[in-house]
Amino acid sequence: MALSVTLQVAHVSTGQLFRETIRRGGPTGQAAQQFIEKGQLVPDAVVIAIVRGWLEDHGNRPEFIFDGFPRTTGQAVALDAMMRERSLPAPVVILIEVPPEVTLERILGRLGCETCGALYHATFDPPKRAGECDKCGSALGRRADDNETTVRERLRWYEELTLGVVAHYAKAAGLRRVDGCRGRQQVFADILRIVKG
Ligand code: AMP
Repeated sequence: MALSVTLQVAHVSTGQLFRETIRRGGPTGQAAQQFIEKGQLVPDAVVIAIVRGWLEDHGNRPEFIFDGFPRTTGQAVALDAMMRERSLPAPVVILIEVPPEVTLERILGRLGCETCGALYHATFDPPKRAGECDKCGSALGRRADDNETTVRERLRWYEELTLGVVAHYAKAAGLRRVDGCRGRQQVFADILRIVKG
């Protein structure tokens, strides 16, 4: 079960917000798509605006999970300011550590259901029937940016910019590390223990 379902809080993935914006069409989606398909990061101003918009629409409950955000120090500084503006407590920041080659293997095997969002892995967690979602029977597909060239570029930007976020939260003593190389249930249990404090 997803962490957000267990904790009954909203799950905000900036990547998912971008994919929805692209599907709806319009200039913001078009601008973001150019970066996403090359495996580059969407510029901070665009990311921060989309998160600010989400908080304005849904942030009335003080608990939510950000996934894939912040990815740069600039985004982390903006998030700190947005939390202060709303008098929200400092976030719990969890770094799930996985070596680059394992990340690559996991992403290249990822299959997703367009209808209900369920995720599978072609080798480690295959659906019961090839190409079909166990939960709703819809077709499974791969994300266009889950190809080796793009993933290697995403990993390069992770090293270049996102490691700065790790340093940002490590300094503020708010960073918790979880070994992501173990089974899903162990990783899930560790995260739950941290969040429930
Ligand atoms: P994800 O769904 O988290 O894998 O994100 C997919 C793509 O969306 C990334 O490779 C980036 O191009 C873009 N993206 C998502 N979140 C961010 C973010 N916080 N900052 C910059 N770009 C992002």
